[in-house]
Amino acid sequence: MSGTRDMKAIIAQMTLEEKASLCAGADTWNTRSIERLGIPSIMMTDGPHGLRKQQGSADHLGLFNSVPATCFPSAAGAASSWNRQLIRQMGEALGRECQAENVGVLLGPGVNIKRSPLCGRNFEYFSEDPYLSSEIAAHHIAGVQSQGVGTSLKHFAANNQEHRRMTSDSIVDERTLREIYLASFEGAVKQAQPWTVMSAYNKVNGTFASENEELLTDILKGEWGHEGLVVSDWGAVNERAKGLAAGLELEMPSSHGEGERQIVEAVTGGQLSESKLNEAVERILGVVFKAADNRRPETVVDPEKHHQLAREIARESMVLLKNEDGILPLAKAGTIAVLGAMAQEPRYQGSGSSQIRPTRLDSIRGELEKSAGPAAKLVYAQGYELDGEEPDEALTDEALRAASESSVTILFAGLPRRYESEGFDRQHLRMPQNQVALIQRVAAVQPNLVVVLSNGAPVEMPWLASAKGVLEAYLGGQALGGAVADLLFGDANPSGKLAETFPAKLSDNPSYLFFPGEGNKVEYREGIFVGYRYYDKKNITPLFPFGHGLSYTTFSYSELAVDSRTIHDTDVLHVSVKVTNTGSRKGQEVVQLYVRDVESSVIRPEKELKGFDKIELEPGESQVVTFELNKRSFAYYDTDLRQWTVESGDFELLVGRSSRDIVLSETVNVLSTTTKSEPYHRNSTLSEVGQTTAGEAFVNQLIAALPFAEGLAQEHTAMLRAFMEHMPLRGLISFSGGKFTEKELAALVQRLNEQEAGE
Ligand code: BGC
Repeated sequence: MSGTRDMKAIIAQMTLEEKASLCAGADTWNTRSIERLGIPSIMMTDGPHGLRKQQGSADHLGLFNSVPATCFPSAAGAASSWNRQLIRQMGEALGRECQAENVGVLLGPGVNIKRSPLCGRNFEYFSEDPYLSSEIAAHHIAGVQSQGVGTSLKHFAANNQEHRRMTSDSIVDERTLREIYLASFEGAVKQAQPWTVMSAYNKVNGTFASENEELLTDILKGEWGHEGLVVSDWGAVNERAKGLAAGLELEMPSSHGEGERQIVEAVTGGQLSESKLNEAVERILGVVFKAADNRRPETVVDPEKHHQLAREIARESMVLLKNEDGILPLAKAGTIAVLGAMAQEPRYQGSGSSQIRPTRLDSIRGELEKSAGPAAKLVYAQGYELDGEEPDEALTDEALRAASESSVTILFAGLPRRYESEGFDRQHLRMPQNQVALIQRVAAVQPNLVVVLSNGAPVEMPWLASAKGVLEAYLGGQALGGAVADLLFGDANPSGKLAETFPAKLSDNPSYLFFPGEGNKVEYREGIFVGYRYYDKKNITPLFPFGHGLSYTTFSYSELAVDSRTIHDTDVLHVSVKVTNTGSRKGQEVVQLYVRDVESSVIRPEKELKGFDKIELEPGESQVVTFELNKRSFAYYDTDLRQWTVESGDFELLVGRSSRDIVLSETVNVLSTTTKSEPYHRNSTLSEVGQTTAGEAFVNQLIAALPFAEGLAQEHTAMLRAFMEHMPLRGLISFSGGKFTEKELAALVQRLNEQEAGE
C-alpha cells in the first residue's frame, strides 16, 4: 500500500525534471510513469454515470467511441431518488466496471449547484440544494472508492453555467459561496474523501479556479482536510506554476511539455519553492500508488446484473409529477396508444464528456408491450419529428387517430439532444413547439393522457392542464424503458422527488436577471437565495416545488419528537417522526426535514433542508424515522468571524413530503456557544446592547434620562425607542445633553465586554 511506501525517499531520488513531469498527464487520459523508480501510470476517464473509456483516437468531448459500459441514470435523475444506499450501489457498480477496464479514477461526480435551470450541464449535477447534493455525492464516491477506484469531485468551484465556461468569472459573495456553492463540495469531501477533486475552468472572484489558493489550499486542503490531489479540468490550466503554487497538483491532459517547462523554470528562477513541488508530487504519488495497489485485474462485470441495477435506479429516479383522477397506474387491458418519436428513439443520457456507449438500450415500446401483457393492445404513432419544430400534419393526424381509438394514451416528449448539452446553455425553458402542439391536440381527442418527459432539467409546461398524468423520467439511462413500464403499469411504485424546483416560468428563477452575466463576468446577485430558498422567501408558487413527487399510495406523519427542547449548538439533537403507509400499495417515502430560524439578525431563507431519509412501507405499516441534527443544521456562515455560527434562539423543525407540503413542526431553543471577542464597541447599537439583561436595563435607564424624554406621551416614548434602536452608542454623546461623555462611553464599552466575557 502507498501508506507503507516511503514517498519522501522516492521523491528524493527524482530529478527536478522528473518531478515536474509527474505533474502533468502523459496524454489525454493517463498519468506519467517513471519506470526507473517503479512509478506506474494510471488512467482517468469520465464519469460520472458510466464509464467512457476511449480507445484509439481520444477526445474529451464524447465525439469518439468508447468501450461499452452500463449507462446509469444521469445525476439529475439519480439525485431525485434521494436514496443514499442505492446511489452507493451505483458507485460500487461503476467501480467494478472501472476495475474490469483498468481505470484508476472515474471523473465524477459533479456537484455544482443548479443556479439556473438554463445551465446546459444541469443533467450532470445533482441539485439546487447543497445538503442533498453533497449527501448523494458522498455515497456515489464511497461506492466507487469501495472498489479500489478513485473519483474526481467536480468542478470546483462556482462552475454553474456553460456559457464562456473557460473564461467566465463567477463573482460570489463569501457567505453565498460558503453556504451554497462550496457546501455542496464540503460535505462530500469531509464524508467520503474523493481521491481527486477537479478544479473548474472558470474564475472565482477574479482568480482562475485552477490558480485559486484560497479554494485549493486554504479551504479544500486546510479547512476540509482533503488528502488527495487536485486535477485540472481538461485544459483548465492558465499559468502552470501559479496553479501549482495555489494547490493544483496535476494538469490534465498533457500540455506536451509546456506545463513541465514552466514548473522547472519557476523553481530554478526562485518563484516556486522545490518543497512546494515535492508536496505536490507526494500527493500525486499517493493517488497513483493507491490506484495501482488496489488493481483487481480479475474483476469480471455481469452486464445483465448492472442493467437490472440501472433499471432499479431509474425507477427511483423518475418523479410522478401529476396523477389526476388516479389515471396511473394503467390497467393492463384495452387499447393503449403510445405516441412520440421519443418512444422510438429514447433520450436517455446527456451530451458531452459524460456520454457513454451503453452495453444495451431498452426499447421503450418493447418494454411497454412486455409489461402490458396479452390483454392490452399497444398502437404506436410517431406524432412529431424529433429534429423539427413545426407540427407535421400527416404525423399529427396519424397520432390523433391512434389516440382517439385508445382507452388511454401515453405521449413521450421532452428535450431533444440539441436543446441541452455540456458546452452551451439553454436560452429558454420551452419544449419544441411541435411536441407542445401534439400534446394539446391529443388531449382534445383523448382526455386520458399521460405525458412521459425525457429531459435533463426543468421545462415550462403550458400544456400541463391537458395531461392527467405526468411522469418526469429525466435522462433515465439505458434501462429507462423498463423503468418507465414498471412505473406506468404499477409493477413499481413511483418514489422519486424533485431535487430542484420547476418554476412556472423562466423569469421566476432567482438568477434570471443576472444569468449568464455580462461578457466574462457573472455576478451571483441573488446570493443565498437559490432554488426553493428564493421561491419560499418570495412566496412564488412554482410549477412543482423542490421535494415534490407523488406515489400510488399515501403516507401519514405523526408523533414528531425531539430528545431535548433546549440544546447548545455543540450538542447533537435527535428528531424522530412516525410515518405510516395509509394506502393500499407498498411504497417508498422520502421524509424531509427542514430547519427554520424563527428570529435572526442575519438574512436567512425561510427554511433549509437538513435531513432526509427514504423508507419502504407495506400497506398499514409504520416506521419511526430518526434524524440527527448538529451545529451545522442551525448555522449560517458569519463573514466577520469567518466561521459557521448559530444565533441563540428558537428554531422550527419542519417535517414533510416536500418543501411545500410540511406536515408537522416542532420548536427547539438553541444556545449559541460562539463568543465574539470584545463584541461591543463605540458603534454598537442600542438594540445590540439591549440584548443582554444588563444592557437592557442600561438602555431603559438611558432613554428615560434623555433630556427630551421626560413627560413624553406613551406613543411618543414608543416612537423614541424605535428611533433610538439603531443609534450607535457614540451617538449618545451628542443626544444626551452633555450627560454622557467620551470617558463614560469608554467605561461603558469596557463594562459590557467584561460582562459578556463573564456570562
Ligand atoms: C469536462 C469534465 C470532464 C473532462 C474530461 C471536460 O471538458 O468539463 O467534466 O471530466 O472534460 O473529459
